[in-house]
Amino acid sequence: MIEIKQLKSGYRGIQALKGVDLTVREGEMVAIIGANGAGKSTLLNTLSGVVRAQSGSIVFDGTEVSRMPAHTISRLGLLHVPEGRQVLADMTIRENLMLGALARSRRAALYDIDKVVSMFPILGERMDQMAGTLSGGQQQMMVIGRALMGTPRVLLLDEPSLGLSPLITHQVFEALATLHQEGLTIVIVEQNANRALAATERAYVMERGLIAQHGNSSDLLNDPAIIEHYLGSA
Ligand code: ATP
Repeated sequence: MIEIKQLKSGYRGIQALKGVDLTVREGEMVAIIGANGAGKSTLLNTLSGVVRAQSGSIVFDGTEVSRMPAHTISRLGLLHVPEGRQVLADMTIRENLMLGALARSRRAALYDIDKVVSMFPILGERMDQMAGTLSGGQQQMMVIGRALMGTPRVLLLDEPSLGLSPLITHQVFEALATLHQEGLTIVIVEQNANRALAATERAYVMERGLIAQHGNSSDLLNDPAIIEHYLGSA
């Protein structure tokens, strides 16, 4: 469904991706782990068109998207939930969710507000409150809900557990597991490598702008080098 070949991108003076190859098949839930600064966020940002690819290719469902603007890519169904949540604090939860629906194209809506609320009941209780009054975990649920309103074909999640308590992280991952069971394709970038490997089928390990390793998540969870570098303190 996504085929990335020799992707290079970065920022002024910084080559953050140095030739990344990665494949995501339809219906898969795939993790990308790695140290701070390895290039994980840049990879998602380049996939969604927020950062421009310098070279290489990204084929999404048969279409080369690496030169397309972000709004075109999101209309194709590649929807990005960036790190830091980007909540519109002075708008209500309902308004935030409805904004997500603007990303929809002609594809039939798969998720509406009722479906988002059934997944995250706390949002239903707060629908007409300002989003800025939500806790970090509730905001994370809302931005996932907002992406669902855009009828994703692939959900790109950047650090969904950042700053959340273990209990709330568990709830967010339970929701992702449900979405995955419903057939949604999910790519998740996580510092919490333990959690990400436990939740996914396959994973990629990034180091300094390259894929250092990839394989079944369960194999990586038991790999001594991965345990030493990424799982030790978790
Ligand atoms: P983290 O978990 O810390 O976000 P990461 O693996 O997601 O790490 P990136 O954020 O993709 O890594 O960063 C890759 C490299 O690009 C780093 O050297 C980082 O300093 C640099 N970088 C990231 N964003 C920018 C930016 N907006 N402008 C300039 N350099 C950036």
